[in-house]
Amino acid sequence: MTLPSSRPDLSLREGYHSPQVDVAVRLNTNESPFPPPEAWVQALAAEATRIRYNRYPDRSATRLREALAELHRVRPEQVFCANGSNEVLQSICLAYGGPGRSAAVFEPTYALHSHIAHLTSTAVVEGRRREDFELDLADVAELNAASRPDITFLCSPNNPTGNSVDPTTAGAVLEGAAGLVVVDEAYGQFADWSAISLVDDDVPLVVTRTFSKTWSMAALRLGYLVGPAPVVAALERVALPYHLDALKQAAGCLAVRYNDEMQERVAAVVAERRRLSSALESLGVTVWPSSANFILFRPETRKAGEVWQGLVDAGVLVRDTSSWPGLSGCLRVTIGTRVEDDLFTAALEEVL
Ligand SMILES: *Cc1c(COP(=O)(O)O)cnc(C)c1O
Repeated sequence: MTLPSSRPDLSLREGYHSPQVDVAVRLNTNESPFPPPEAWVQALAAEATRIRYNRYPDRSATRLREALAELHRVRPEQVFCANGSNEVLQSICLAYGGPGRSAAVFEPTYALHSHIAHLTSTAVVEGRRREDFELDLADVAELNAASRPDITFLCSPNNPTGNSVDPTTAGAVLEGAAGLVVVDEAYGQFADWSAISLVDDDVPLVVTRTFSKTWSMAALRLGYLVGPAPVVAALERVALPYHLDALKQAAGCLAVRYNDEMQERVAAVVAERRRLSSALESLGVTVWPSSANFILFRPETRKAGEVWQGLVDAGVLVRDTSSWPGLSGCLRVTIGTRVEDDLFTAALEEVL
């Protein structure tokens, strides 16, 4: 007997995942260095005893969507939740992409946008960012005219470059887009402007958010989208029945009560980001300004791969982004605790 072969196009798509190496200091996946509020953990434990485990959960996640709608001052019908914002992105590609349709990305950007498009047989149209990683609106217009993408992915703040989209640029992209504009705001709480302010039922814009980064809840796998109610209805058609388990729904409802604590974490990370940026600059590496919880940098004296390995040998894991389009020689480091960041800079100094 022989095993059947999987889709041939899947074998081309390896190597997209960040290696999980067992080291003491993990600064490679942009998680929060802080645990979530202890009171939330306690409340969730109590909630876990009240769930009726023999029954399927609320299929439309009513309470969770109400809580998120209140947080963002939109209607519950304008909120779609899923298992991490990556699953939200996948649902978007399933509902608005697919065979014969296309999605535009502007590299360098979050690799999962094109990866998920490929997995859903959505053609990827690749645009580029300028040298300073900003969008060039003339290039965006040219790409729109030539390819008329069904989906346009923006990422703000952009992973891995750290810069964010300003309202004028977002407005211009929206104006010229042929299809749905998706603004991935996984790091949205770090930016001073959110595209959520543009969301309306007759505007072809959705904004994705996650509990994985600023909320300190990556293990929870909860993400969501704010967008036009008809788009949310379309996404519900591609979601699996009961895709959001009861515990996760409860956890998300509880989490939004700790919005103030989350904002405090954001402020702490921003302060630490300033400190780490100057530490990197004093080591003579090129550092890009960041409005997120990570920093893109380029060592000028050694190859990125060697620096990455040297850091791993010293017990520090960062992301090697040097093979990403337009990022030759670059690495990305997540802002950690003071202690972690000091270990990182000491190891980096040693390696350089
Ligand atoms: C981390 C990240 C995500 C993934 O979020 P999950 O909610 O954990 O799936 C989505 N978009 C960007 C840009 C990210 O950096």
